Amino acid sequence: MSDLIQQPQKITDLKTLNKEQLLAFCKQLGLPRFRADQIFQWLYQKGASSFDEMTNLSKDLREKLKEVATINRIEPAAQQKSQDGTIKFLFKLNDEEKDYKVEAVLIPDFYNDGVAKRLTVCVSSQVGCVFGCSFCATGKMGFFRNLSHGEVVDQVQYINEVAEAEYGKKITNIVYMGMGEPLHNYKTVINSADIISDPLGIDLSPKRITVSTVGLTKQIKQLADDSEPFNLAISLHAPSDEKRDKIMPINASMNLDSLEEAVRYYHRKTEKPLTYEYLLFDGFNDTHEDAKNLAKIVNWAPSKVNIIMYNNVAGVELQRAREDRLNAFMKALLKNGVRATVRRSRGDDIDAGCGQLAIREGAPKGKTIAK
Ligand code: SF4
Repeated sequence: MSDLIQQPQKITDLKTLNKEQLLAFCKQLGLPRFRADQIFQWLYQKGASSFDEMTNLSKDLREKLKEVATINRIEPAAQQKSQDGTIKFLFKLNDEEKDYKVEAVLIPDFYNDGVAKRLTVCVSSQVGCVFGCSFCATGKMGFFRNLSHGEVVDQVQYINEVAEAEYGKKITNIVYMGMGEPLHNYKTVINSADIISDPLGIDLSPKRITVSTVGLTKQIKQLADDSEPFNLAISLHAPSDEKRDKIMPINASMNLDSLEEAVRYYHRKTEKPLTYEYLLFDGFNDTHEDAKNLAKIVNWAPSKVNIIMYNNVAGVELQRAREDRLNAFMKALLKNGVRATVRRSRGDDIDAGCGQLAIREGAPKGKTIAK
């Protein structure tokens, strides 16, 4: 029996609809649920960019879909591969008049025999960022627009294919730590993470998806209220308000006390252990005193701290901490009971720091919270 099709709607970009909205859209067209599932699978599992590829839909239905809908897809614009295997991608968005680009990075970890163990993708959620952290290349661009969930999933889909071709394996982890503050684009991040973890989408366990934030307190609480299954990572980067004020303008409105209050709320509701990110800067936040203060902030609940070695950014005074200072800092953390691991900087020979490639490509200046 052929599918019953009713009145066409205005042209809808299917990649802006989440699963429920796609179901409603199909229902409006008189299509049964399994058709919505098939279309969802074509869009997000098979990466279809045209209706003609959807070969298990009747020809009539494909023609009808062409009349009422489109499929937007971002385009790969540049790619750089580091000697350590890290691959950086630049994607061009489909804005008619603007030349917006975003970045994503594939970070491989290898077993001793050179076989890929983990393949982590760092995705972007916004074009630029409003929060203007002083160490961040994206922060220097300012904010232009939010990505849609389709644009986030496109990054993952494309990189999944590259991962298989380069390393013989699909990606194993996703982190929302690319361009933009993920919780500032809450709906997109949740919709895209839902699609990435959907068995009809990319089918990655939600436990392997991490959303990072500079500390948007309302949205941290919302994650807990919404019982989202994804991991949360707090980008702390400084162990006192005095130091955080110097490098992260967000701290003026959401200081460490208010951040702790939100994180305590999150922990009470989710009972999940907490993850903190801490970029180590030479002579700025790497002393014994800093380690002691960091311990006070994180030790009230089971937690781990990722000490990240900074990718130096041109024009930024803060520099990656020296190796001897890193070692002393790690010893001080251990002494103060902090569970910490070092994340080595990757892709040093390419522009692998967040926003560096887009800046190099000549990004214009957008809005910041300072303006
Ligand atoms: S570190 Fe994150 S929040 Fe800060 S400016 Fe960069 S992208 Fe924005």
